[in-house]
Amino acid sequence: MKCDYDIVICGGGMIGAALATQLAPHGFSIALVEAKVPAAYDLSQNFDLRISALSPKSALVMQQCKAWDILQGMRLCPYKRMRVWEVAGFGDLTFSANQVGVPELGHIVENRLVQLSLWQALEDNDKVDIICPASPESFHRDGKVMRLDLDTGQSISARLIVGADGAQSKVRQEFGIGVNRGQYQQACLVASVNTELGQQDITWQRFVNTGPQAFLPLLGQHGSVVWYHQADQARALSNLSHGDLANEIMAQFPPQLGKIEVTAQASFGLQKQHAQSYCAEGMVLVGDAAHVINPLAGQGVNLGFQDVACLASVLADARSKGEDWSTKGVLKRYQKQRKLANSLMLHSMDAFHHGFSQTNTKTKWLRNLALASAKIPLIKQRVVRYAMGI
Ligand SMILES: Cc1cc2nc3c(=O)[nH]c(=O)nc-3n(C[C@H](O)[C@H](O)[C@H](O)COP(=O)(O)OP(=O)(O)OC[C@H]3O[C@@H](n4cnc5c(N)ncnc54)[C@H](O)[C@@H]3O)c2cc1C
Repeated sequence: MKCDYDIVICGGGMIGAALATQLAPHGFSIALVEAKVPAAYDLSQNFDLRISALSPKSALVMQQCKAWDILQGMRLCPYKRMRVWEVAGFGDLTFSANQVGVPELGHIVENRLVQLSLWQALEDNDKVDIICPASPESFHRDGKVMRLDLDTGQSISARLIVGADGAQSKVRQEFGIGVNRGQYQQACLVASVNTELGQQDITWQRFVNTGPQAFLPLLGQHGSVVWYHQADQARALSNLSHGDLANEIMAQFPPQLGKIEVTAQASFGLQKQHAQSYCAEGMVLVGDAAHVINPLAGQGVNLGFQDVACLASVLADARSKGEDWSTKGVLKRYQKQRKLANSLMLHSMDAFHHGFSQTNTKTKWLRNLALASAKIPLIKQRVVRYAMGI
């Protein structure tokens, strides 16, 4: 039976769109099905609340997607230094780009602009159709062909369905793939702020008894404040007026923040989730559809970009050898490479979260010791390279 497309990617966010740009040059015909139309970019817009720290390795994937230059033409903020310290302890660590001989440690980006730049890179690509707004309503299998009925009334078919539809993935649920899930008692408040301080090139995270407090610089006199707290406290903070929240943040955050004005705020629950399998016959999961990680060290989308690079290479390789690339046997090569790597990061972030939320003296001493030992040049270089994904 003939298919409309080789591959249908459900979810045109950062990860789904990146995958489309990586697969199209290998000759795959693709439909990218996305539920929400992203708002167009305009320099006068306020900064989005949803931002990410992109590692240099992810920037490389964006370059391969031909979207990095487009993103640079919008707005993003390089950071050259990173400081981590504990309020009542001796652990205090600053990394800087020149210690590892690179121009920056990473970039703070707005998620929507990453998505838009990838969509722009797909414009005029006759291998990719973006179908938006649209969502799959049902999936049907006919031998090796999968058919999707969309809520627009349209019906499309393909040999492979990719679930890039985020943490609540409908694709994952439709294919009966279970997840191992855990909910943290903490949530985080995220606020977009205008800063009295000029352009900054440092991102910092301070650990206090209630959880971490972090600052991520954005372009110009702007930034993002992240405040981890008990879930009810984070929600209560997000319900304050902009002015009251700014006063509360300035009273509780370190003086490094300076004077701020809050322009937008929201609270996010924290969870960890890992799909029990990444693939089935004719179906594969990438990004948050496969794994959700505590955002403490900002690794979620970075792991997703590594999924993209790996899956694109596995599919292109199988196709070039004349293999049936939509079979579970081929897709398992991707799962083998990515599931363990993602699992290690999920567990490390979990251990990090628990290590830094304990208030007993012994654990406190141990984590300060860990921060202090990371000052030893060789260890420091390794830690910073790991954080940068290189
Ligand atoms: C507070 C917070 C801070 C974070 N900070 C960082 C950070 O600093 N660095 C980092 O690397 N990561 C960070 N993350 C994680 C990061 O945001 C995610 O890992 C990333 O967004 C995952 O991208 P994705 O494309 O897989 O999923 P999503 O971003 O969830 O995108 C899924 C897409 O699929 C679409 N979709 C969903 N369902 C359907 C459907 N049924 N039909 C059609 N389309 C559908 C959605 O509209 C969306 O566009 C953070 C997360 C949180 C909560």
